[in-house]
Amino acid sequence: MSLYPAFARPRDLGQAAEIMGSLSTGAMIIAGGQEVMPSVNYGALMPEVYIDVGQITALKGISEENGAIQIGSFTVHRDVQQSDVIQNNLPLLSYAAAQIGGGMQVHNRGTIGGNIVSMHPLYDILPSLLALGADVDILKDGEEQRMALADLMKDASHGLGSESLLVRVLLKPMTPDAGWAYEKLKITAGGYGSANAAAIVTLDSDKITSLRIIVGAVSALPVDISDALSDYRGQAWSEHLAEEIEAKASAAIKEPLSDHQGDGDWRRAMAGVMARRAIEAAVKRAG
Ligand SMILES: Cc1cc2nc3c(=O)[nH]c(=O)nc-3n(C[C@H](O)[C@H](O)[C@H](O)COP(=O)(O)OP(=O)(O)OC[C@H]3O[C@@H](n4cnc5c(N)ncnc54)[C@H](O)[C@@H]3O)c2cc1C
Repeated sequence: MSLYPAFARPRDLGQAAEIMGSLSTGAMIIAGGQEVMPSVNYGALMPEVYIDVGQITALKGISEENGAIQIGSFTVHRDVQQSDVIQNNLPLLSYAAAQIGGGMQVHNRGTIGGNIVSMHPLYDILPSLLALGADVDILKDGEEQRMALADLMKDASHGLGSESLLVRVLLKPMTPDAGWAYEKLKITAGGYGSANAAAIVTLDSDKITSLRIIVGAVSALPVDISDALSDYRGQAWSEHLAEEIEAKASAAIKEPLSDHQGDGDWRRAMAGVMARRAIEAAVKRAG
């Protein structure tokens, strides 16, 4: 191991694949550095080689083609918030990106790719992407592979961040009749959430016809509780339904986090509160 880290700056995906393929352990992709650099500064991380992907044009920008929306992994949070394509087609994602704390620097430098790959329990983007059924393209062994984000999260063997590169996120536009909401419970303004929930609801008259609900910041990874609440399809919103949803959503959190933001019992209870609030707001918006 050399005393000083090396620095690689691939110009395109081909060069990135070549560099990742030629390095063994100790290499680390760096995008906005908002996660990597604090860890290096604290001495928690010491990459031997930084692979800076900021020059790769294919990783940048947001586009819409034939009803499919693509977000390059090096797209910063500010662009996700402000893009017309995202605001018009995926308002849930635009809103969730605006709830990220840390101020202007994090919004202007932090990328959607870095946020996803970090898979940090308290971050804001994954619940919305999961509720929206996002797919991702990753570059591994010189080839691009497409998979559901939900599947990527269950499998650590892809070596994202050192052996493979997240290229883009792919989403279908939300239907115009969909109601949505993202609720984040935070102790301090601009801080991390202690519980959050992303909901997408459709109604027929006042009855719920479809319900996607993901709860985050209460477990190691966001939890999809849509199936646990599937019995409520066909029902109209009421105070009684709200209470049932809150209780069922809490019970669906099997391994709650316990940290300085709150212990497990409280986190589980707040998961229910956030789920209820998100679904209620989504129902109102759909109505
Ligand atoms: C003060 C502060 C407050 C914050 N508050 C919030 C908050 O409230 N909510 C929230 O959601 N986030 C928050 N963040 C986190 C911020 O959103 C993330 O740090 C950021 O999105 C990570 O993106 P990045 O480009 O800086 O990633 P980097 O730091 O460059 O990388 C992060 C990780 O992802 C890997 N990586 C990056 N890009 C790729 C890629 N294309 N392919 C494969 N691997 C990749 C890196 O190897 C590394 O492991 C906060 C950060 C700070 C510093």
